[in-house]
Amino acid sequence: MRWQDMRRSRNVEDRRGMGPVGGGLRGGGMKVGLGGLIIALIASLLFGVNPLDMIGGTGPAPTPAPPGYGPQTTGAPAPGGAPAQQDAAGDMMRAVLGDTEDVWKALFESLGQRGYPPPKLVLFSGRVSSACGLASAAVGPFYCPGDGTVYLDTAFFAQLARRFGAPGDFAAAYVVAHEVGHHVQNVLGTMQQFDRQLSRLDERSRNQMQVRLELQADCYAGVWGYFAQKRKLLEPGDIEEGLRAAAAVGDDMMMQRSQGYVVPDAFTHGSAEQRVRWFRKGLATGDPRQCDTFSVAQP
Ligand SMILES: [Zn+2]
Repeated sequence: MRWQDMRRSRNVEDRRGMGPVGGGLRGGGMKVGLGGLIIALIASLLFGVNPLDMIGGTGPAPTPAPPGYGPQTTGAPAPGGAPAQQDAAGDMMRAVLGDTEDVWKALFESLGQRGYPPPKLVLFSGRVSSACGLASAAVGPFYCPGDGTVYLDTAFFAQLARRFGAPGDFAAAYVVAHEVGHHVQNVLGTMQQFDRQLSRLDERSRNQMQVRLELQADCYAGVWGYFAQKRKLLEPGDIEEGLRAAAAVGDDMMMQRSQGYVVPDAFTHGSAEQRVRWFRKGLATGDPRQCDTFSVAQP
């Protein structure tokens, strides 16, 4: 991926090495964005990483990031504020986020939507405090609707590469674009509708609804990929990297890896096949209207 050619976003805040409180707690403490359900669901809304995977102590010790991905400095931050960490992973995050801003701004205009308010992206290490509560890096990247922010520990990309077998910069970009997809759902009101409907459903139906929400975010990630490709920002092998990542974080793959068997009723993100298929749909069409995972009989 030629991310060096992408415009850098100014909406990235680097809190790596600052601990959970750094810049996180605002006046009045935690803010609940969309009611208890979203909060209760946040662990499973998180991108891909199945909490089951983390609880049993089966997770590996943190692996050092491969060259070009991890922060190059892990020491204490510069006194008095966010360190201006210059590293490839952070720079790439700024580039990918900036590109999603340009793409979604244009898409909102073409769809007759009011202006696109870009999300914030907080890079953190270890633990982070958000409007959705305190989160540890173990839960993986996530989007918090309450503060319109994507939270991401760049060390996750090393995990994606080694543990999930999905290396590459476009695999990392897919992760960011998926979380940005949740932001688009938040801005368009899809999440609010989803939140209202959930309260009326039993657990199995709730899981199915959540799968639809996740698959739509995958499709939206694909929509961004379509425009990156159109502007010749992708290189040979990138699409495959993204598809591999989408499959690797499918619920069936996750469950297989963590517990050795698959429980389709417990799926909250969709199977590998579903995630790849919806990501592909966005990639092929570049049209967010094709991402209506809620009205098809079987997503
Ligand atoms: Zn997600």
